Amino acid sequence: MSTPTLDLMDYSDVIARFEPVLGLEVHVELNTATKMFCGCPTEFGAEPNTQVCPVCLGLPGALPVVNEKGVESAIRIGLALNCSITPWGRFARKNYFYPDQPKNYQISQYDEPIATEGHLDVLLDDGSTFRVEIERAHMEEDTGKSTHVGGATGRIHGASHSLLDYNRAGVPLVEIVTKPITGAGDRAPEVARAYVTALREVLESLNVSDVKMEQGSLRCDANVSLMEIGAKEFGTRTETKNVNSLKSIEIAVRYEMRRQGAVLADGGTIVQETRHFHETDGSTSSGRIKETSEDYRYFPEPDLEPVAPDADWVEQLRGTIPEYPWLRRARIQTDWDLSDEVMRDLVNAGALDLIIATVDAGAPANEARSWWVAYLTEKAKEREVALEDLPITPAQVAAVINLVEAKTVNNKVAKQVVDFVLAGEGEPAQIVESKGLGMVSDDSALQSEVEKALAANPDIAEKIRSGKVQAAGKIVGDVMKATRGQADAARVRELVLAACS
Ligand SMILES: [Zn+2]
Repeated sequence: MSTPTLDLMDYSDVIARFEPVLGLEVHVELNTATKMFCGCPTEFGAEPNTQVCPVCLGLPGALPVVNEKGVESAIRIGLALNCSITPWGRFARKNYFYPDQPKNYQISQYDEPIATEGHLDVLLDDGSTFRVEIERAHMEEDTGKSTHVGGATGRIHGASHSLLDYNRAGVPLVEIVTKPITGAGDRAPEVARAYVTALREVLESLNVSDVKMEQGSLRCDANVSLMEIGAKEFGTRTETKNVNSLKSIEIAVRYEMRRQGAVLADGGTIVQETRHFHETDGSTSSGRIKETSEDYRYFPEPDLEPVAPDADWVEQLRGTIPEYPWLRRARIQTDWDLSDEVMRDLVNAGALDLIIATVDAGAPANEARSWWVAYLTEKAKEREVALEDLPITPAQVAAVINLVEAKTVNNKVAKQVVDFVLAGEGEPAQIVESKGLGMVSDDSALQSEVEKALAANPDIAEKIRSGKVQAAGKIVGDVMKATRGQADAARVRELVLAACS
């Protein structure tokens, strides 16, 4: 796709003359097992048009029913974003014709959204926070997916025909809309990225979506406008659609600021329109002229009951909202006294949640950390899988650590136990039992091994007796060998010294 070449304003000139105003709209696909208004499955990647029924195909007479789990997820999202939850609200029909929308309307929420008036404090790169005000979060259903075939760009222009897949039609969505974000100045692109990053982490911690931007389960539209510094009214905005990576959000906002700056400085006007973002060069190009809400002829959906969550339920859901992931990380870093660098390594290695879960399962933090970043990381590399995809659970790792603490096995044997768990041979304690891996702690058994080793090495025994205690290492090594590494080496050493005293 060729984009019109036009001059962009230097970023510093944009900032010197204009105040950027952002508005971010994020669509998140919920991970419910079934669709929002029917019982069709929602699994990604199925054969086209195999997950459909009369309701989501919009056949005459088919009646929708609200998915309670979808409402629950929407309420939890609202609560996590510090919103008020409406005690009573209706769905609305948003009327428009498009082939991927078989009913010719989308069930959405209009003037009675489930959640309103919240905020999210997001962390910027320099460690400061920036408050993004949330206007609303509302429930709606996704559309089907069109694939335009035969053209160079995959867009409808130049295509010979289009294919429609309705598997996605009716999948629950929550759309989260910010209030106009002002005051970010030159950090506006960073704020946009930081907000979507934070929102994505929050949604992930709520376990309401798989938040995969590349699969479209999290999609961001970025509204950008500029106003002359000191002006009272916002400028005309553009809406860059479906920017599908965190980095691209920052790039798209920056590009729009520079493009609009150039147009305005040249005495031109900004057209209110949607724009396409191009991953290849980070530019945007003109899409369609933006509809206004009047164009959609919204009216209350007559086929559905209003959503009226009772206050007890909302309070109960409030209790399920986890600590913000970045606050949790900061707290853990302090609790475990980790340097910024070590903390960054743990996060980058994908080890932090596993370590926390291992500690929660009863292991000391240092031990949990050492197992995941050393031996298990090595195993993950050997198998070429992510750490979290190793076939061992944090609870099993904690069990191994506790076997070492209880001196049931030593560190070396503990690694064998882990290998057996990874090989699918069962639970750690059961493996120790069935494979006879328990530490030989019976002193009389060890005693006889010590005597045997001393008898076999009379010259070394003599050295130890004459006070050269470092010579004991050879005897300890022999006993460890004889017990297949299952003895407590420190105890063996004590017995050797006692026998030679
Ligand atoms: Zn269906």
